[in-house]
Amino acid sequence: PERLLTVEEMCLHIDTYRGTVRAVDGVTFHVDQGESVGIVGESGSGKSMTALSLMRFTPLAGRFTAGSAMFQGRDLLKLSEREMRKIRGKDISMVFQDPMTFLNPLIRIGDQIGEVLVEHEGLSRRAAFNRAVEVLRQVRIPSPEDVAAQYPHQLSGGMRQRALIAMAIIGAPSLLIADEPTTALDVTVQAQIIELLRGVKEKHGLSLLMITHDLGIVAHVCDRVYVVYAGRIMEEAGVFEVFETPRHPYTTALLSSITYDEESGDGIGYIEGTVPSLIDPPEGCRFHTRCPAAMPVCRRLQPPRTRVSETQSVYCWLYEEAQDE
Ligand code: SF4
Ligand code: MG
Repeated sequence: PERLLTVEEMCLHIDTYRGTVRAVDGVTFHVDQGESVGIVGESGSGKSMTALSLMRFTPLAGRFTAGSAMFQGRDLLKLSEREMRKIRGKDISMVFQDPMTFLNPLIRIGDQIGEVLVEHEGLSRRAAFNRAVEVLRQVRIPSPEDVAAQYPHQLSGGMRQRALIAMAIIGAPSLLIADEPTTALDVTVQAQIIELLRGVKEKHGLSLLMITHDLGIVAHVCDRVYVVYAGRIMEEAGVFEVFETPRHPYTTALLSSITYDEESGDGIGYIEGTVPSLIDPPEGCRFHTRCPAAMPVCRRLQPPRTRVSETQSVYCWLYEEAQDE
């Protein structure tokens, strides 16, 4: 499969009055054409900032201190705002947890969805609106003509998310980024939206980058997954590997936390302690403050990446010998 996106050692540091937040700190991953890749971690792990970095929807005080994000021959981290505007919606688009942060309350749904076609393909407003109605139909919104003429507040949460997905796919992007797209929705609607995203991905042959804390979604949607913690990747694996043979102590903890939480019906798990502050993150392995297997070296030095199979790699000192062999 062809490589669509290659992110290497990406670092996003944000200056705040409390200090520099190392929101994304040396993250390396890739997405192939037609692939569905998950970035999974607890809240505060920097996974949203990783996604927002690719769209360059980063805070004003944020700067990329290192790394690259190559997409179709260009480094997304170095493009001007003008160049990025040509890419957003057309080559890469994004679906958010709360559609209202992205939808303009004052513009009719159909006009908002069609906007990218007016801007990038020179369609008339009328023609773009008609195309929007078609795409609303594709995302299975009932009476799409009526909905296109409505304003965001007139739609339910689930319908708004469908509208946002319509807006994300109308420009036929090759990469769709979804950041916790179902977290704000009821359970039944969640399942529908996940199914819809899967269907859209298959039908349009696009690549999906799914940002989530929910391993159930990963199991359902992703081909491969990156487990992130405190601004760094801990493990990468094929979706079966991550559930069958997790290697990193953090991945294991995340997995055992879903079984724990299935009983309470709650989404994410419980791991003792909290994600460390990204302002002054721990030296060495970021997980050492919570890791049951931590050794002295873990406190001092960052673990290297160790490959354990064709598709699985782990950043953990426990596997360092395997790499030397
Ligand atoms: Fe635990 Fe050390 Fe591995 Fe980090 S490197 S996960 S602290 S054993
Ligand atoms: Mg988030």
